[in-house]
Amino acid sequence: MVRPFEERRDVLKSSRAIRTHQPELEFLTEKARWVRDEIIEVAVKNGAGHIAPSLSCSDILVALYYGVMNYRHSDPLWPQRDRLIISKAHGAYGVFPILADLGVIPPEEWKGFYTDSSTLTGCIERRPEYGLEAGCGSLGHGLPLAVGAAFGARLRGESWHTYCLLGDGEMQEGTTWEAVQFAVKHELSNLTMVVDNNRLQAMDFTERIMNIHADDLVRRMRGFGLDPVDCPGHDLGALVTVLSELKQIDSDKPGVVNAITVKGYGLKCMENIPKFHFRIPTQAELDMGRR
Ligand SMILES: [Mg+2]
Repeated sequence: MVRPFEERRDVLKSSRAIRTHQPELEFLTEKARWVRDEIIEVAVKNGAGHIAPSLSCSDILVALYYGVMNYRHSDPLWPQRDRLIISKAHGAYGVFPILADLGVIPPEEWKGFYTDSSTLTGCIERRPEYGLEAGCGSLGHGLPLAVGAAFGARLRGESWHTYCLLGDGEMQEGTTWEAVQFAVKHELSNLTMVVDNNRLQAMDFTERIMNIHADDLVRRMRGFGLDPVDCPGHDLGALVTVLSELKQIDSDKPGVVNAITVKGYGLKCMENIPKFHFRIPTQAELDMGRR
């Protein structure tokens, strides 16, 4: 049954509840460091590329899972869980160690990631029992799915919130902007988009590939009627604060976080260097150190 608009608006307001327990910054920082170490160790050992784009967004995932989302790790299918659609699905390895740490994914599945000993592949596939809401290998599909989830929640009177993690390169996809239009039109304030804006896509800078400059994303989002918020994408405290505030704010608009990130963050040999999009570092490069 579709509820009246006013009633649905009341439900949306209740979807802004934040977690009652906020972890200490020290805890989040330690988790973020551990997730980066896990990504590097397992991906290098198992021969999985896309380490740099995964390091770019791992702090965002840590902030969401440990600090922002309503999520029961003992029950990944809990109906009232907040949804996370990872649209940059081939560059977000961090979700696997996080879900292993939370007890949702068996540790051996993560440790064997990208090999025949595991069912986890280099691209996130839809595995609800593993807490993975959607498969989004081809870019430009995640936001339409997230908008559908948010719109569905409203139609059904559900109070959970939907998050979508996008890459800045995929903001060139037409389907993404079609989804933005729909979300604006239907005032989906139960949706938050987080763009991992590292100013790189594939093997070059977005500025050189498609003439996309640093402030273009914010300018375009404003053109669609949204109010994007800039946030340092490796500052756990700032991420949790901004994401929590966007969930609570009394607005009729979807939220947008423009997370300013560094591709390859954490590995000194890799940071902001285009050739490392898919390339696995050598031992000599790894020996250059970590943050
Ligand atoms: Mg990028």
